[in-house]
Amino acid sequence: MDEHANEFLSAYLDNASPTGMEMEGQRLWAAYIAPYTDEQHCDAYGSAWAVLRSEQPGAPTLMLDAHADEIGFTIRYIDDKGFARVDRLGGTDTAIARGRRVRFTGTDGEVIGVIGNTAIHIRDDGDKAPKIWELYIDFGCDSREEVEALGIRVGTTGVYCDGPLLLNDGKRLVCRALDDKLCGFINAQVARALHEQGIKPAWNIVFANSIQEEIGCIGASMVAYHLRPDAAICIDVTHATDSPGLDKNRYGDVCLGKGGVLCFGPTCHPNLNARIERVVDAAGIPMQYESTGRFTGTNTDFVYRTRAGVPSASLSLPLRYMHSPVETADMGDVQSIVDLLVAFIRDLRVEDDFRHKL
Ligand SMILES: [Zn+2]
Repeated sequence: MDEHANEFLSAYLDNASPTGMEMEGQRLWAAYIAPYTDEQHCDAYGSAWAVLRSEQPGAPTLMLDAHADEIGFTIRYIDDKGFARVDRLGGTDTAIARGRRVRFTGTDGEVIGVIGNTAIHIRDDGDKAPKIWELYIDFGCDSREEVEALGIRVGTTGVYCDGPLLLNDGKRLVCRALDDKLCGFINAQVARALHEQGIKPAWNIVFANSIQEEIGCIGASMVAYHLRPDAAICIDVTHATDSPGLDKNRYGDVCLGKGGVLCFGPTCHPNLNARIERVVDAAGIPMQYESTGRFTGTNTDFVYRTRAGVPSASLSLPLRYMHSPVETADMGDVQSIVDLLVAFIRDLRVEDDFRHKL
């Protein structure tokens, strides 16, 4: 990765984009992808997309989707002593919340608070995970008025302070919110690679950075309805099962460093999956597999059932410690998924149709 890509990735990861508050991050993403695409748009709630137009008449449209939001907190109540109670935005894990620093986006800018943690010596609830309403934010204030004077109110949102960190000489990337910003980055890198390699796709390519995935895949549903893609690949993270204590008998076998993960299941179209496998085999790109008997838990589940159905695939980046401040991904996997998507797009023909036929 060059300097420009690195700068974008660290700014994009540093930016706080809890569910419902994605716009600032969307502007960073759109600015990066703009030179490599023909158009950039966003809808009423802030899902953004960039379009690379095919030069062929009547070309179908492929949507590559990632989500722009990250998990976080929203303030629900500030008591007389200045302690703030929160609700979770998305699947925030209360088991690891106490003792952490949180950045809130106040009316006058960023305000840091800490999640209080009663000392081990004097607490009586052992190691039990707290309920969300048992967590409290300490802003270093003694009253509600003092907290409000910092620009914090009911409805102010926050995310963990933890920014990007490289492990082992850049082999692994650690950060909060790699889910799914690292995949928004992958999509932008695909657009850039197509541009720099002078590849003119046979299909129109829509790079979508959709909002509010963490509370039910809302943005991708809106975007798919609006843009009527002919096929979609949703790129999100999946659980790597190669860290201690995970049972592969139960969760399957997904490792960091062995490439992207293609999902099989009712929402994932067999024709699209077969094409992805063919492309990967021909190009010698590593890929892993997972399956589900029901849903993928990603935007795929909502994109595929849009209107009369959109042939969709779920392609995932292996991730350790999902929904924690130390989400960990392999940078080789990031590049491998970029290569895979570029190869897939290069292989598309205007007459391709992934729908089933009798
Ligand atoms: Zn995700």
